[in-house]
Amino acid sequence: MLDLLIIGGRLLDFKRGLVEENLGIKDGKISYMGVDFPQAKEVLELEAQIVSPGFIDIHMHEEDFVLSQGDYDIAKTMLAMGVTTAVAGNCGNNRQSLEAFLSQLNSSGSPINYMSYIGHNFLREQVGNRDTKAPSTREQTQKMRSLVNEAINLGALGISYGFEYCSGGSFEEAIGIAEDLKGKEGILLTGHYRYDGDRALESIQEMAEISKALDLPFLISHLSSCSAFGYMKESLDLIRDYREKGVKLFVDAYPYTAFSTYIGSDVFEEGCLERWGVDYKDIQLTQAPYENTRCTEEIFMDARKNHPKMLAIAHVMREEEIAMAMADPMVIVASDGIYSSGKGHPRGAGTFPRFISKYLRDEGLMEFVEGMKKITLMPAETLGLSNKGRLEEGCDADLCIFNYSEIRDQADFAEAQKPPLGISHVLIDGKFALRDGTSTEGRFGKFIARKNGS
Ligand SMILES: [Zn+2]
Repeated sequence: MLDLLIIGGRLLDFKRGLVEENLGIKDGKISYMGVDFPQAKEVLELEAQIVSPGFIDIHMHEEDFVLSQGDYDIAKTMLAMGVTTAVAGNCGNNRQSLEAFLSQLNSSGSPINYMSYIGHNFLREQVGNRDTKAPSTREQTQKMRSLVNEAINLGALGISYGFEYCSGGSFEEAIGIAEDLKGKEGILLTGHYRYDGDRALESIQEMAEISKALDLPFLISHLSSCSAFGYMKESLDLIRDYREKGVKLFVDAYPYTAFSTYIGSDVFEEGCLERWGVDYKDIQLTQAPYENTRCTEEIFMDARKNHPKMLAIAHVMREEEIAMAMADPMVIVASDGIYSSGKGHPRGAGTFPRFISKYLRDEGLMEFVEGMKKITLMPAETLGLSNKGRLEEGCDADLCIFNYSEIRDQADFAEAQKPPLGISHVLIDGKFALRDGTSTEGRFGKFIARKNGS
């Protein structure tokens, strides 16, 4: 007997399109798809909602368990927007050690499944190089190399780089810490570009060269905030060109015209406003004493000096270039969500409903079923998760059930964690994590170790 039978929905099956069939779950797996009504302990009746694979966020930033006092923060907003698996440790930055992150997940479970990278910038601090502008010594690089190996043994996906945040981290250092991963199956590298705007292409070239030198796939992070200053088309063309030549490049982007990072970081160094063609008022601060304040020169300088760990939101990118990235068939949609004490950018609570409602439904940027692959099947394949991101018998029953005419993001720059509309149920391993729009407070998520070749 099935544990659960879902009837009356429209199943998002990437082989056949949207099909009006029933879906059965047993022992956490999809065990039936068809028009019959096999016996089940429980039946969930839908009214033509879409039953989609749970969304997979291939680029986000996990909670800082010290700041959140051991509780989950972003994992909850992820769940509310339909995410069932997310990838932590991006942009070179882990918010705690991988060991601490794993021990939290293993001891309490998690609202969603997590995978993680080990971050280059985080490791630099671990080995005592706290100067982001200084190269690491040979000894420090060797130490990082062995810490990378330890993280890989714990199940990390690979290394994340945060070049823009650490100008001292050279190409040679990036290769040096990954020396033992060369050509190793199942490893994925990822990186936050070294320069944005007019130097975006040179940054993409550097990441492609790293991929070639190490013979490893490389996921270019959030192209939206790297290139949507007049360089999107050239950036996409360059990545496509590399891919056609056999370089294993992937790319993600988020559906907003503002980016977010710490006000004290190197991103906001002198010359940034000129480079983006914007003014101080286009930079918004998120926490006291400047909560929801647009900068003046004076506030900007004070925040950088006295509140460097405050998240800032920079309203600086061009909408037509964001749409171009969303529509490109090779671009994976991911949130880059990050919160600090619940404050930050709405992308951590709105990315996927926003992509579906704004770009697929309202603007009709691409065909619905094709578009949905960008948040399910494509990230699953890039991560080597052959049991997720698709509805097929035998796959994990991670599902997001939503009403296509009602789904919409609600989080905005004033209420950055406001949940979306239109998502009724989210299941993880066949269990209700969100039911009738409300979290069940289940902790069904776990840490997923790297799959391929592990
Ligand atoms: Zn980043």
